[in-house]
Amino acid sequence: MSVPFIDFKEQHRLIQNEVDTGFKKVFEKGDYILGEQAVIFEGAFAKYCDCAYGVGVNSGTDALYLALCALDIGPGDEVIVPTFTFIATALCVSFCGAQAVFVDVEPDTYNIDPQAFARAITKKTKAVIPVHIYGQPANMNEISAIARKHDIKVVEDAAQAHGSRYQGKRAGSLGDVACFSFYPTKSLGACGDAGMIVTNDKAIYQKALMLRDYGRKGRYEHKIKGHNSRLDTLQAVVLNAKLKHLDAWNTLRAQNAVYYNELLKGVKGVVTSVVKSDRTHVYQTYAVRVANRDKVMEGMKAKGISVLIHYPIPLHLQEAYQELGYQKGAFPFAEAVADEIMSLPMFPHMSREQIETVVRALKESL
Ligand SMILES: *Cc1c(COP(=O)(O)O)cnc(C)c1O
Repeated sequence: MSVPFIDFKEQHRLIQNEVDTGFKKVFEKGDYILGEQAVIFEGAFAKYCDCAYGVGVNSGTDALYLALCALDIGPGDEVIVPTFTFIATALCVSFCGAQAVFVDVEPDTYNIDPQAFARAITKKTKAVIPVHIYGQPANMNEISAIARKHDIKVVEDAAQAHGSRYQGKRAGSLGDVACFSFYPTKSLGACGDAGMIVTNDKAIYQKALMLRDYGRKGRYEHKIKGHNSRLDTLQAVVLNAKLKHLDAWNTLRAQNAVYYNELLKGVKGVVTSVVKSDRTHVYQTYAVRVANRDKVMEGMKAKGISVLIHYPIPLHLQEAYQELGYQKGAFPFAEAVADEIMSLPMFPHMSREQIETVVRALKESL
């Protein structure tokens, strides 16, 4: 039996009627961009994240970029970013003309190391972007305490953490402003690109509203030089339908992870993820570490199991950031994780049999 990395057919079946009806209404009304369903989704998703405000945008990358713009980050500023993440976390800093400063991650959660963040602070540091990698929130208390002391803004990259909690509070409500992606493979995914900025800060909200829509205030007045990055109504129809299922789907993901962990317990050479007791993990990605990763992957693929690597090259070693002059060895934890990490198939409606098949193939490939 082959196992796909992701299979959303069952998810789609559950929302199909609502989406069909919703699409029809949008076509009848013609409010294709920031229409009624988009406004409803902004409110609903912000509320879901324990936030007062939501600003729907084109993508998670734009959410990050516009959030930094809303904080007036620009040339001469530094923004601290974990090196073990998707490149968009750093690109948004570069888009602003600011400098991305990479730091290492914790060896157990793969999230930004708060002490490494503290050590990297300079007079130019304006913000830090903790990434809730794979769906487990970063150590936000420590990060926020350090940030507050140095007057640094905290921008959550919550693109992998829809619905996860830190000390009871939702990802998205843990910093000054947070950014989500609704790329189709995320836990809450549209049928194209989409993203959102959420915040409890009214000033950031108002600036983000202008930034995503040509700097507009009213129809003809442009207060600032804004961008064009708005949420499409058709995407919002899908997202509204899926949001109602998100908690249930996150529960299924967590159950799948528990079963994976159970089957992998005591398997020599496989390290499963560590979940801290004060937070929940929503398993956007279920990743394990294996020493001879590339050979194991080859073996699993030969048996029809889809496996991927998130992420094989830390950002400080990417060609796109070679001008910063980081060398191999600069961030040993991130580099070790990147060499050993492997993402196993994970989606809410995986069967136990599929999970067993993946684990069997993994064991045989070790
Ligand atoms: C997916 C992702 C992004 C980018 O989101 P897009 O919607 O693809 O632009 C940013 N950061 C992280 C951690 C992501 O996983």
